[in-house]
Amino acid sequence: MPASALSTQHTVEQAKALAFRAVDFLVEHDVPPIPLSYGVAYEYLSGGSPELCRTLDEYLHSGRQIDAFLLRDLHERHLAVDRSTPLRGVGNDLQQLLGDLTHDIEEAGRGAEEFGQALDSTLGHLAGDRDTQSLRDIASGMLVATQQARQRNHHLQQRLQITLAESEKLKVELERHRREALIDPLTGLWNRRALDHELDELMAVEPDAPLSLLMLDVDHFKRINDTHGHALGDAVLRHVAEAIRKCLRSEDHAVRYGGEEFLVLLPRTPLLEAAQVAENIRARVASLRLRRRSDNLVLDPFTVSLGVASRRPGDTRETLLRRTDHAMYRSKGMGRNRVSLDVDQGLSPGHA
Ligand code: GH3
Ligand code: MG
Ligand code: MG
Repeated sequence: MPASALSTQHTVEQAKALAFRAVDFLVEHDVPPIPLSYGVAYEYLSGGSPELCRTLDEYLHSGRQIDAFLLRDLHERHLAVDRSTPLRGVGNDLQQLLGDLTHDIEEAGRGAEEFGQALDSTLGHLAGDRDTQSLRDIASGMLVATQQARQRNHHLQQRLQITLAESEKLKVELERHRREALIDPLTGLWNRRALDHELDELMAVEPDAPLSLLMLDVDHFKRINDTHGHALGDAVLRHVAEAIRKCLRSEDHAVRYGGEEFLVLLPRTPLLEAAQVAENIRARVASLRLRRRSDNLVLDPFTVSLGVASRRPGDTRETLLRRTDHAMYRSKGMGRNRVSLDVDQGLSPGHA
């Protein structure tokens, strides 16, 4: 935690001081003070999110350079709880619809009651001795009451149809929001939130089935960004995502786990089979030859480092992820462009 952590309830003076420090923090680390980065810096310096503070502290203590991508990632993981904001709008719409419908149904109920009362009183009148004129009056009274009831019914039917169409639209919109909240927009792969959910579920539903994870990190990706710009870096990430996808079965799940880190969930897959998938991905990425359309620039081949781990008895999501991450870092330590397993062995290129 930063030494100067304050409570999240700040006075105006405290907030002002924090705002300046947040900007200083970004300038000091050479990160442009765009609103999202500023928000993370502010949150960090105010100690508002302990998880975020811990992650950023670890990063800073490891001596690594922070940048806008890392801060965006932290924002996504720790602060972006309000992805559901548009959903709140949908919720309000739904409430409004239900309110209107309830009102209409109450109205219709009142109408039916009035109609019943009109019939009652008519029947009362019929009980006595009546001449033709009064019978005619009674009949026309019944006619008016019947017409009013029919009109109300017709109105209610129309309202019901509109409400049904509206609720159908809202259902589609909700489904779209639900999907978007789990998908990484750059690569179209699942995001970390989707992974957490699926992994927890898989571990609970199939406690005894083999389960492997594969972590992948693009080697020297910063260089690609620095040499050719972020747009090309983004394109590389999309190609890596595509290469991963092509090596998977339909039941596997690929996830954009962080900036240039990917994770693959391999259900019902033992370690050595997962290692083979990892090697296929490694080889496929290494063989990519990318050319930028706008100026025909041919990008130098690039590589990825991978780590593979399988569930052991007693593993939680965190322990399994940690071991997969360690295996991946072992590949980095051994020179990159390779697959390492969560046992004491590393696999060289082409040798999974
Ligand atoms: P290593 O081989 O050790 O993994 O080196 P590296 O350069 O790949 O690793 P490092 O963590 O130093 O740099 C990763 C870079 O990825 C830093 C960041 O600028 C960049 N990055 C993260 N997210 C994105 C993104 O969405 N798009 C682009 N273009 N770059 C990103
Ligand atoms: Mg990385
Ligand atoms: Mg990297």
